[in-house]
Amino acid sequence: MRFFIETNLPDFWNDIGDVIRIFFGEGAVVSDSSGATVLTHVHCQEEDEQVETVSLSYEGKPYSWSLRETIPNTDAVEFKRRIKRLIKRCAYHVLKEVSGYMPPWGSLTGIRPTRLYYQQLSQGLTEPEADRMFADEFDVSDSRIELIKEVIHSQSPYLAAEDSEYDIYIGIPFCKTRCSFCSFSSGTIGNGKRVEPYLNALMHEIEESAKLLAENQKRVRTIYIGGGTPTSISASQLERLLSGTLHAFGNVTEWTVEAGRPDTIDREKLAVMRDYPVSRISINPQSMNDETLIRIGRNHSAEEIRTTYELARSLGFDNINMDIIVGLPGENLEMFLNTLSCIREMRPESLTVHTLAIKHASKLHEAQYVHDRDVMYLKMADLGHACAHELGMKAYYLYRQKYMASNLENVGYAVPEKICIYNIDNMEETTNVLALGAGGISKRIFGANLRIERAPNVSDIDTYIARVDEMIERKRALIATQRAKEG
Ligand code: SF4
Repeated sequence: MRFFIETNLPDFWNDIGDVIRIFFGEGAVVSDSSGATVLTHVHCQEEDEQVETVSLSYEGKPYSWSLRETIPNTDAVEFKRRIKRLIKRCAYHVLKEVSGYMPPWGSLTGIRPTRLYYQQLSQGLTEPEADRMFADEFDVSDSRIELIKEVIHSQSPYLAAEDSEYDIYIGIPFCKTRCSFCSFSSGTIGNGKRVEPYLNALMHEIEESAKLLAENQKRVRTIYIGGGTPTSISASQLERLLSGTLHAFGNVTEWTVEAGRPDTIDREKLAVMRDYPVSRISINPQSMNDETLIRIGRNHSAEEIRTTYELARSLGFDNINMDIIVGLPGENLEMFLNTLSCIREMRPESLTVHTLAIKHASKLHEAQYVHDRDVMYLKMADLGHACAHELGMKAYYLYRQKYMASNLENVGYAVPEKICIYNIDNMEETTNVLALGAGGISKRIFGANLRIERAPNVSDIDTYIARVDEMIERKRALIATQRAKEG
């Protein structure tokens, strides 16, 4: 079905479109009314009350939903937020009736569900009251409310970072080839000529950032080396990176290298990581089906994933994460079940179940690939959840994005003693972070209301190399801001 939106509050056109996409997938909102179903939203004010009505006619039958609420107009941002919520609820109810579909996340879009749940608890609601609010106001299903609670219970021992603590993120923005679903600002490594100049700039930023932390009496909580694909660089370059990082920041109990793609990992690179206190690595299949791996441009086979995983185990890695994706192009339920069965055999300590999101900077988007809503995706996500539980894992972080298949979620699972604290900090934005390398975004968290100030690095690799000193100065200013505000 294709919908044309008419509204007398055009500022909310996109929000209505988001609700349509929950039910009818990407591409369901069109800008030409011919041949489309017209969905009309009318906003009016009656005395103090705001009244929203959404209606459409489908196969000759009229559907309509109205909600009225008194919203004080004392805070413009809050006023707009509540009007938006009313409009979305009306659109949601009309489309639920038309489609007969019950979305697992109800009308909740574009928000971290855990953040909203924490907000309710901080406002004094008990967990049963917060559950009711999610069910009544947003129509969230019982399974997703349970998922949120599983996440917040897993997170609770790790949330209280101290103000003096920083997570360190180090980005290696190179990959061997570009996966079709990826929108990261990484470059393909090509002949590798840009790696050395990049590492020179990065090592300088690492050293200077360590000095900044020491001068300001800050401690490092975790280190996370991500990308791109950190193992796309050579073993000797990786050694240089790890040695410089250890020298600058010292030993920390949690140090992740998101090795990522098996076609970049070999015995030599794994041995280098074992020489340093790297405590956790990722070896990411995305799928264990060869035809899918070819289709998404991964350049490696399912067998290579297995042998790389076994090699890492044989060298003593005891905390390995694997990422998989629900809804990859061409994958049916049987193929997804095959991926899960391979995961069960390998038994990683953590599993991240993503749902495919068609992001604008991806090759899939360029190729105009769209996924319609399909109950199969929901089934896949639920099977991923069951698989993680069978492996003794619990969900410990959760986020949702725009343009996800069937408006589902990304969930990180881990066995309890192998939870990645950096991932919790990153998702919940409760801990300061210094992000080094092209595209990194450093963050300073202020106070109990978690106000955030950011200091972004430029994402273009050559610009980063040329302007690395400016990136360091941005960090100095960020930390100084904190000192001034604390003082
Ligand atoms: S390996 Fe990871 S970062 Fe690189 S293109 Fe693929 S998904 Fe993106």
